Amino acid sequence: MPDALPDSRATGSQLPSPLRYDCARHSGDHRRFLSDDVSHSSQPIRVAVLPGDGIGREVMAEAIRVLHALEAHWNELRFELHEHPCGAGAYLKLGDPLPADTLAACREADAILLGAMGLPNVRWPDGREMAPQLDLREQLDLYCGLRPIYLYHAGDSPLKKYQAGEIDLLIVRENTEGLFSSRLNQTAPGASQVEDTLRITRHASERLFRAGFEQARRRRGRVTLVDKANVLPSMVFFRAIFDEVAAEYPGVQADKIYVDAAALYLVQRPHSFDVLVTENIFGDILSDLAAGLVGGMGLAPSADVGDRCAVFQPSHGTAPDIAGTGIANPVAMILSAAMMLEWLARPETIVAAAAIRNAVADVLADPAKRTPDLGGKLTTRQMADAILTQL
Ligand code: ATP
Repeated sequence: MPDALPDSRATGSQLPSPLRYDCARHSGDHRRFLSDDVSHSSQPIRVAVLPGDGIGREVMAEAIRVLHALEAHWNELRFELHEHPCGAGAYLKLGDPLPADTLAACREADAILLGAMGLPNVRWPDGREMAPQLDLREQLDLYCGLRPIYLYHAGDSPLKKYQAGEIDLLIVRENTEGLFSSRLNQTAPGASQVEDTLRITRHASERLFRAGFEQARRRRGRVTLVDKANVLPSMVFFRAIFDEVAAEYPGVQADKIYVDAAALYLVQRPHSFDVLVTENIFGDILSDLAAGLVGGMGLAPSADVGDRCAVFQPSHGTAPDIAGTGIANPVAMILSAAMMLEWLARPETIVAAAAIRNAVADVLADPAKRTPDLGGKLTTRQMADAILTQL
């Protein structure tokens, strides 16, 4: 168990606004952990737009409205947005959930904006759901999943004692191996035993940990490895590599905890975490848990970042239970678009990203401005309208 983890309340609360705090530390980070350059270009930004299925399509429409509003406001900001088929719907129409043309367009684009993919009743013959978002991560080598968790309003947390800004952490999830590495294995009909392999490689681990430490350098300077090194040999290996990489970052404090303890501490004292780095499925599970601490999936953005491209999508799925009803919360998608703008790291996109974050924070400061997932009455469109008005 880590002792005396840094307290976001001790640092964040001194800053004038949760959003300025957030932006000051995050502007451009997601690209700058790969390069320290802020790029200068007058070229339009080519975005491959993959709305996908279910509420993915509904929240994407609102994120696009926000991007167009920014474009109308800043002459320097120009987008070329091209929509491409992807997801379970694409499979039904075209026979492939990730058509080759879509993948090629993603490789060509400056950034990829993704809604959500998959429909519960559209499955491969072996029963698995279509998950082209996972294929994209693997095909484009988007090894680093960045999942910021930020409490915008005390009333959104099931935890009683937290004020806005007092939960502020970043989960850095390995995206290309771990327990997901067996996901495409076939099971022989009638098999009496099935095994999934948890694969850890030195290459993937080193680059993941470096990304985590680079993020921590720009935040509160603390990285916590989440593993299961008390049980699994693969995790002992993972931990040893973490220690090697930690030695490259003497200015960043490194801790290690087991995944079961991480689940407990995230609920008991989330303020004590800064950056958590972890294996693929641990990150998958813990990022949903952490999203629950700040209001749920509707407020949880994410970025899947590689050395050359990146996909930006809300952490949530297609939410079949509410799809088509017009009540999905668009905030996670809109904040994912802000992460895209930060990662693009042009001066004008960094400013635009900050504008989105500020608008979202201002809207969420009013407890009446909520979709039903947060106990409010606004529709998807009305919630986006509130953000656009604030912009
Ligand atoms: P996946 O396996 O793809 O993550 P899932 O069905 O397990 O998908 P979600 O689609 O994320 O999970 O939905 C989980 C719950 O959260 C559902 O009850 C859903 O309605 C709700 N939810 C998810 N995203 C939103 C959103 N943007 N707005 C409102 N509710 C949401």
